[in-house]
Amino acid sequence: MASIDAGSAGAQILPFYLAGETDDTALIRGRFASVGVPATRILTRHAYPEAVASLQAEAMAIAACLSTFMKFDGVFTLQAKGDGYVKTLLADMTSDGALRGYTAFDAGAPPPVGTDMAESLPASVPALLGSGYAAFTVDQGSENGRYQGIVELDGETLSDAATAWFANSEQVDSHIVAAAGRTGDSWTASAMMVQRVAADGGRLAGVSREARDDAWTTAEMLLRSVRRDELVDPALAPEALIFRLFNALRPHVAPAQPVEDRCRCSPDRVVAVLERMSAAELADLVTESGTIDVTCEFCKTTRSIDPPFANATLTRQ
Ligand SMILES: [Zn+2]
Repeated sequence: MASIDAGSAGAQILPFYLAGETDDTALIRGRFASVGVPATRILTRHAYPEAVASLQAEAMAIAACLSTFMKFDGVFTLQAKGDGYVKTLLADMTSDGALRGYTAFDAGAPPPVGTDMAESLPASVPALLGSGYAAFTVDQGSENGRYQGIVELDGETLSDAATAWFANSEQVDSHIVAAAGRTGDSWTASAMMVQRVAADGGRLAGVSREARDDAWTTAEMLLRSVRRDELVDPALAPEALIFRLFNALRPHVAPAQPVEDRCRCSPDRVVAVLERMSAAELADLVTESGTIDVTCEFCKTTRSIDPPFANATLTRQ
């Protein structure tokens, strides 16, 4: 029986691996992220046009999927900048499962023609973002480093950009697909990826090169064959789709990792941002009631910072 957490409407990431035909050695690692529940909450707060919401949902699914490859605790960010209707697209996820996202777009204009999501296609990057770039950032704190990779937006979908970045940064064969869809007020959004396990370190010493190549070719072909309606089917359990797709490669599924709609903003962070501003900038922000009201772009929480703070800062300048 389908539950809200079952299919791509859910909120979880399933790690899995695929083996060859002869034994259980992991030759391919995979991830299947389903972020429908948090995506629905986030998109409901933002009330984006349908096409923008769909692009944002895909971005959040991809960020969730890729975040699980971080080696240490940290934040994974997907940011795209374009010269089209959508100016900035941002989705990030922490290693403990806090997902968020926001989009800046040309609110004064109608969405571009042909981006209506009634057509069963992934959101079109050229139509919505135009030309620009996507930046993928892994921030694992000061000790473990921050890495950023940038790719041009020259593909049709966000998945194309993610696949290009992942292949570049990891130097191993990888492929990712993503899709989002809406039924009534509920969004489904999911991303699935497969990646060849590197043969270094002797881990795959007992597996022939031919068998490893065969497993990769098959896994990539099978992932490319997944239909969008399978990825966004709210009633299809993630395990069921993994086994349906990759049955020939003997899938092994690991315990699910949680994903939730949780912002990382706080009053302290708001104050920290304000403290970096000049007295003139701060003076412009003081409202008639004498407070500075700051709305988080991600979660839409508005905080009114007390006048003593503003006055103190103003006098400090
Ligand atoms: Zn927030």
